[in-house]
Amino acid sequence: MSLIQLSAGELLDRLNSGQTTAVDVATAFLTRIEAKDFQIQAFLRVDREGALAAAESVDRRRRQNQPVGPLAGLPVAVKDLLCARGELTTCGSKILANFRPPYDSTVVEKLRAADAILIGRTNMDEFAMGGSNENSAYFPTRNPWNLDCIPGGSSGGAAACVAAGMAPLSIGSDTGGSIRQPAALCGVTGLKPTYGRVSRYGLVAFASSLDQVGPLARTAQDVALLLDVIAGHDPRDATSIPAPSPPYLRSIEQPLSGLRIGLVREHFGPGLDSEVESAVREACRVYESLGAKISEISLPHGKYAVATYYIIAPCEASSNLARYDGVHYGHRSDESAIHEALERDRRQLVAAGQSEKAEQLDNVLVRMYRRSRAEGFGPEVKRRIMLGAYALSAGYYDAFYLKALKVRRLIRQDFDRAFEQVDLIAGPVTATPAFKLGEKSGDPLAMYLVDLYTVSANLAGLPGISLPCGFSAEGLPIGLQLQAPPLQEERLLRAAHMFQSVTDWHGRRPRE
Ligand code: GLN
Repeated sequence: MSLIQLSAGELLDRLNSGQTTAVDVATAFLTRIEAKDFQIQAFLRVDREGALAAAESVDRRRRQNQPVGPLAGLPVAVKDLLCARGELTTCGSKILANFRPPYDSTVVEKLRAADAILIGRTNMDEFAMGGSNENSAYFPTRNPWNLDCIPGGSSGGAAACVAAGMAPLSIGSDTGGSIRQPAALCGVTGLKPTYGRVSRYGLVAFASSLDQVGPLARTAQDVALLLDVIAGHDPRDATSIPAPSPPYLRSIEQPLSGLRIGLVREHFGPGLDSEVESAVREACRVYESLGAKISEISLPHGKYAVATYYIIAPCEASSNLARYDGVHYGHRSDESAIHEALERDRRQLVAAGQSEKAEQLDNVLVRMYRRSRAEGFGPEVKRRIMLGAYALSAGYYDAFYLKALKVRRLIRQDFDRAFEQVDLIAGPVTATPAFKLGEKSGDPLAMYLVDLYTVSANLAGLPGISLPCGFSAEGLPIGLQLQAPPLQEERLLRAAHMFQSVTDWHGRRPRE
């Protein structure tokens, strides 16, 4: 079996036993990227030299019997929104096209300390706003299972590169579903940890009360391996949970006995594709055969989740993105052109006898801010900034933002009540398998509705995992979502591993 087909765990065994080297592993994945990524376009940048140098260093230390980290020699692809010192970090946006952060994010720092091989940066929807990768300012990524389809988003590059065998592990982020949804649509396993479980220090912020970083891989076991490295308290992130993180991989093989799984009544309404529904119901039968008890539960406020999310997330985004002004950060519009345009406007007004109006023209600085933002942000990001600024403005704040915060609390209370009856909630990740490129890009509302099953976990701060549970007749992957109470990542991973021990959906590969 070639190296790129092995799981991260299997690769690690071979590396540790001397059957292969980190340079061989890195070379195998780099070669795969060269052969495949021109079609998929999962990577914005591939760091061949950096990866090979890091791999050589790992091999040298292994040869000399020096200690190496827990991911020593494993390639990891990182979504392009985690700061890496001196390296481009664009967040899928033109406004950050030249941004080289002066520091490492905590997650990147932990990956380096674990001796992971940082192989490249993956494509994403601009500022993580989107669910199809079509909002990337650079190019759309394609689904490895069908190149005419979207890979999901916003961590579409991170999911597609794992599905296509271009990296065994990747890092994504999830504000409203951006790890789970692309994992489902690309047939890989992806975990959104509890809010605050993984440090957000050095993560380019989208919506700070919802953002969470997390791992993607083929199997729950590999997800646990990566989560072990990135999880934990970080004093540099004020929202980081000051609780120790248990060793996820070590416990993953312990099956859960007497598992109580809830199916949400409201999840199985109109709009849910019948193939997705039957794959999810079949997955529940698998759990039943493993001894789990399935019951029906209700999350009555879930129907407001998308509306609530699309108030809160844009409000926070409009505030977070105010920093991109062409002065502190990011793209700056051509100042001399602005200067000339201003002078021209002024002369025209004066010549027309309107010197008072000429006096009132915005100065160069204000024009520069405006032009820089107009040129640097794409249409979806502008739409969200406008929505957020509107919902936060005097007179609308109470009706929109404050109301949304109250509904958010009700959504969280629904979960608290449900978790008195069940240990896990199971359901679909998406209503349909991957759709075609361009199918929804002209219809923002249709795009927002894609997030129906995922945004609640972010609003409530809960962990959730997506794992492959079937395929559509057209051969597109279908995901199963499991959700757990806060800080129960261990339960999610053990349950996902139970499923993957008796099924092989996660083992399927796209046809070459
Ligand atoms: N699709 C959602 C959005 O567009 C979620 C994005 C995310 O989780 N980053 O906001």
